[in-house]
Amino acid sequence: MRAVITGITGQDGSYLTDLLLAKGYEVHGIVRRSSTLQRPRLDQQVHDQSIYGKRLFLHYSDLTDTTSLRRILSRIVPDEFYHLAGQSHVGLSFEIPESTCELTAMGTLRILEILRDLSPSPRFLHASSREIFGTPICSPQNEDTPLNPNSPYGAAKAFANQLVKIYRDSLGLFGCNAICYNHESPRRAENFVTRKISIAAASIKLGLQKELILGNIDSSRDWGCAPEFVEAMWLMLQQPNPKDYILATGKTHSVREFLELAFQHVGLDWKTYYRHDPRFQRPVEPENLRGDASRASIELGWKPKTSLAQLAAMMVDHDLSRLEQSILEKQ
Ligand code: NAP
Ligand code: GDP
Repeated sequence: MRAVITGITGQDGSYLTDLLLAKGYEVHGIVRRSSTLQRPRLDQQVHDQSIYGKRLFLHYSDLTDTTSLRRILSRIVPDEFYHLAGQSHVGLSFEIPESTCELTAMGTLRILEILRDLSPSPRFLHASSREIFGTPICSPQNEDTPLNPNSPYGAAKAFANQLVKIYRDSLGLFGCNAICYNHESPRRAENFVTRKISIAAASIKLGLQKELILGNIDSSRDWGCAPEFVEAMWLMLQQPNPKDYILATGKTHSVREFLELAFQHVGLDWKTYYRHDPRFQRPVEPENLRGDASRASIELGWKPKTSLAQLAAMMVDHDLSRLEQSILEKQ
């Protein structure tokens, strides 16, 4: 089996790469040009000579570069296509709405148009988001809940989500939306709140940081574990028929609870180090976001297993050992 992944250098893309390589796939990742060649989440695979250049290949392109995407795809002729790339930060989408929509909404349309011309078209997975529900009219949300986005990111994802449905229903594409609620891991980008907290707990424990500045700590999220989510994405493309699936734990917790769990894990009281700064406050916060993943449970046999306490501990432990290692290297 041959798969293409956009967003391979990101949190989910790197876990999906691990999963597909373990399943014997040939994996082709789309990477964009940047001023550094650092791709820390892929380091292990890229430095493994038995894998890189043999079963794992990276190709330069960009979600805005249709000609190179088309050329790469017509050469590879993949069986499966996982579209995970995009501007993934909700808060930042209020600062950079134009590029967020260009990449997340129009980028997905461009890919769908290329896939439409491929024969055969690969099975296609789009990483959609619970932000499409914005302020939802009911809780928990399922695959039939009406869309009501309230951020530029949510609007862009809603556009892409609906296009996948349209290409599926009207043009026969095997296209699926993984409607993902938040999922975290030690590979989560550092400007998301869970990772910001895990890094702070570890740094403060080691005497490298004095305080942790946050925005709204009373907001809640349905937080799951990233490696489990990419497994569900793979399962979605193995089904006889293409469908959309909610991927969520069904449980919500506040940022405050995550703070407590992370700091408790290193024996500290978060209240001693926490400082509020309205700069990190969002213009609008989604409410009652809780996913009902019954369809994924019944049809894919998928169930989230990691509790929030386990997730927090895993993230803090990772940051502790990473920081301890870098202290040792400097000595
Ligand atoms: P992430 O860590 O931020 O990774 C985003 C990826 O997109 C990176 O590989 C990035 O490349 C790539 N990318 C960004 N702009 C690009 C462009 N113009 N051309 C090509 N590639 C580009 O995100 P993630 O957490 O893995 O999330 C994966 C997907 O799931 C995203 O679409 C996200 O919106 C969606 N999602 C995530 C969550 C979550 O909780 N994680 C929840 C709902 C939906 P660089 O490394 O070069 O920046
Ligand atoms: P999101 O759900 O995709 O927006 O994930 P984030 O991790 O960025 O934000 C989760 C929640 O944490 C949101 O309600 C934010 O308002 C809240 N939050 C509070 N302080 C911060 C902060 O300093 N950074 C981020 N990223 N979020 C924060």
